[in-house]
Amino acid sequence: MGHFSNETKYRETVLCLLRNDFEFYTFGNSMEKQKIENRMMYADVILPLPLEDTYTYLIPPDMEKAVTAGCRVIVHFGKKRYYTAIVAEVHARAPRQTYETKEIFALLDAAPVLRRPQLRFWRWISSYYLCALGDVYKAALPSGLKPDSETAVAYNEDFEADIPLRPNEQSVLDAFAGAVRLTVAEIEKKTGLRNVMPAVTSLMNRGAVVVSEEIRKVFAPKMQTFIRLSADYRDGNRLHAAFDELRRAKKQETLLMTFLELSNTLNPAPTKEVSKKELLDYSGMAPAVLTGLLSRGILESYEKEVGRLQVHVSKLRPLSPLTEAQEKAYDEIHEAFKRKDVCLLHGVTSSGKTEIYARMIADALQTGRQVLYLLPEIAITTQLTERLARLFGDKLVVYHSRFSDNERVEVWNKLLHGNEPLVVLGVRSSLFLPFKSLGLIIVDEEHETSYKQQDPAPRYHARNTAIMLANMHGAKTLLGSATSSIDSWFNATSGKYGLVELNTRYGDCLMPEIIPVDIKELKRKKIMKDTLFSPLLIGKMEEALNGGEQVILFQNRRGYAPVMECRQCGWIPHCEHCDVSLTYHKFKNQLVCHYCGYTRYVPERCPSCEGRELKMLGFGTEKVEEEINTLFPSAKAERLDMDTARTRSAYERILSDYEKGKTNILMGTQMLTKGLDFENVSVVGILNADNLMNYPDFRAYERAFQLMTQVSGRAGRRSGRQGTVILQTSQPEHPLIQMVCRFDYKAMVAQQLAERSMFRYPPYYRLIVMVLRSRNEVVLRELSEIYARKLEQHLGERVFGPVTPVITRIRTLYIRQIMLKIEISLSVNPVRELLYKVHREMQQYPAFKQLLLHYDVDPA
Ligand code: ADP
Ligand code: ZN
Ligand code: ZN
Repeated sequence: MGHFSNETKYRETVLCLLRNDFEFYTFGNSMEKQKIENRMMYADVILPLPLEDTYTYLIPPDMEKAVTAGCRVIVHFGKKRYYTAIVAEVHARAPRQTYETKEIFALLDAAPVLRRPQLRFWRWISSYYLCALGDVYKAALPSGLKPDSETAVAYNEDFEADIPLRPNEQSVLDAFAGAVRLTVAEIEKKTGLRNVMPAVTSLMNRGAVVVSEEIRKVFAPKMQTFIRLSADYRDGNRLHAAFDELRRAKKQETLLMTFLELSNTLNPAPTKEVSKKELLDYSGMAPAVLTGLLSRGILESYEKEVGRLQVHVSKLRPLSPLTEAQEKAYDEIHEAFKRKDVCLLHGVTSSGKTEIYARMIADALQTGRQVLYLLPEIAITTQLTERLARLFGDKLVVYHSRFSDNERVEVWNKLLHGNEPLVVLGVRSSLFLPFKSLGLIIVDEEHETSYKQQDPAPRYHARNTAIMLANMHGAKTLLGSATSSIDSWFNATSGKYGLVELNTRYGDCLMPEIIPVDIKELKRKKIMKDTLFSPLLIGKMEEALNGGEQVILFQNRRGYAPVMECRQCGWIPHCEHCDVSLTYHKFKNQLVCHYCGYTRYVPERCPSCEGRELKMLGFGTEKVEEEINTLFPSAKAERLDMDTARTRSAYERILSDYEKGKTNILMGTQMLTKGLDFENVSVVGILNADNLMNYPDFRAYERAFQLMTQVSGRAGRRSGRQGTVILQTSQPEHPLIQMVCRFDYKAMVAQQLAERSMFRYPPYYRLIVMVLRSRNEVVLRELSEIYARKLEQHLGERVFGPVTPVITRIRTLYIRQIMLKIEISLSVNPVRELLYKVHREMQQYPAFKQLLLHYDVDPA
């Protein structure tokens, strides 16, 4: 089986003993209820629904001793629906609610699945980000831990019962006859049982069924090829003979030596298993050399299932000694932490920030505490994972949103039951893991806007939330970036955070030379006609490719052309559900909405005037690829964007081929700006800087600067030669372009801060955007107007709008926004009270029911 850790198994056994039987707890006998009327116990539970607060349920007397805060219970809520809820509090206060107090249906845990401070952390998120506690719970717990009626369940064919199944459990399994996947509600229907949730949960804990979005992935055990010495060669004499045999095959001889070293064969120490990948990586040998040894029968290979959490390394590396500059930065961080809880490490690309993090992690682990290393979603690569695994071995735990539910539950349990010092490398959702005692949180690439969750609620910012979490643990937070967010920079320079700068690249590498190229001029002179590439860029690329070096091309739009237009009448295809034009994807020959995924085939004639000529405006990554293939037919080029890197393995494959030099040119969207460390890139091309800057958002320039600087930072990271960046733009004289070329971060910040203070934006003001949506445009208009005026009565000119956003309709819902700009010095609490008060007032309008409202606090 191997899908569940022993820990889970152990817990399950304990649970079974404690519970004896589910039925024991699962009936609510009202006779019994009468008997103990005088001392009834209640539980306030959090439901996985967008509800403002907790709901109170009666604890059946037989469950009283067992129900504690942090345990999961199954409760009935709404029409015939069952949910896994979390107990927030147990008490004896009879509720004054108008609805009938129902009983808890079943208890799932003998011990809490949360650690104490987590509930407090959830409450903070819900109150600061103005969202329901239930939404936080939904985001926090892996779905494998909170099945509900709609959860999909699949039967595990490998399951063998070790303890006899209970009748209910057997009926559930029987329901799978002829079905691969059923929802809990469907199982209920098929079995005719009133509530199968406890049985499903118990089967899940025993590994008989799997609850998951990606069931297939869960079932496929992860196999890896390992290498060992053949039985014949395991004694000393035979091994000598092998080396004699290899005298003419030097590479094979070296590889065998490496194998013996890695596996510890020649030492008295216990031998270690060596994976094929590790052997090849470590020796730097081609796979053919290994094939040679295998066919001689000296080595043999075998397949083995490996756990998903561990990255296997048998040889730990010591930390690299820091350079003088790094050592200084490291000391300054420690110094800063004596006075401040947060420190910003502002270090240019390739200055070795990761090496400093590693040192800080080791320090924290040494004191027995845990570390969380946060990265934006797409920046967690095998590259970094292996780098850390070599340093921290099995102390490293990875938590990724593309993990299956089971893997996430495994990580969750490891943290819940273990007390060891661990370092978790994870994306923003890892903030919710049950840490015992955090000593340090690292927020790498802290400027990344993808740290902010957009949809659904909770719309939290992982960087700011991390600082709060660290606070609750008495831990420190280290923010790191080469292009720090203006917010963090402001906090660091105004004394709220510590500030440490690192201005030189590792190994005396120079910052690349950035050359702006005026594409408007080239087009006017007809030098650049029907092409995306300036002659200078083509020349530099040729040079690099001829010299065996690699190229990165950046274009921030995917697809082929962002807009298609009828030459005759100007008709532009739009999405049926959203107010946006469709993007042309040539490969699929489809028009795609990047907001809701709606697709349609490209019409042969213009639907409006029957015209036959539809032209493309603008360009995306697909078109870049097409042109590369004609310009450099012998180069191997690959595209990295959301279309080619849909799965994690595709993403990893593209990066690894590029890293190994199998591809020469890598082109793509901002996916390729994230902390990638390639040795051999000498030329970077930014194909069009204009569309980065012409973005209707107050952070447009900040973001454009960050993107251009980050992608430039991929050039010349190792080679002795300085890298080159060709920056194509129609405004080469633009101050921002000039700042990018001079690496003048501070000038950019100064200019932006002046604007932000004048127009009342962060970091001087806190933004709260109220997003109102409705199918009914008229109602939306009227009520959003009334809403804004009501708010104005209290908040005066802090209220802006309602305005119609650039995109007025998404997924058939019209949108209006009211923006609040609140002085940073004002406390959030009274503002929140006020917002909720006005919200209640709005409910007197019957039509308000047709509106959806959510808040976006600190939008990014
Ligand atoms: P950053 O995170 O600042 O972009 P990295 O930590 O990725 O920079 O460092 C860039 C490269 O330089 C990496 O390949 C790293 O291994 C190497 N490097 C940096 N500092 C050291 C050091 N002190 N010893 C050995 N290699 C280093
Ligand atoms: Zn037309
Ligand atoms: Zn759409």
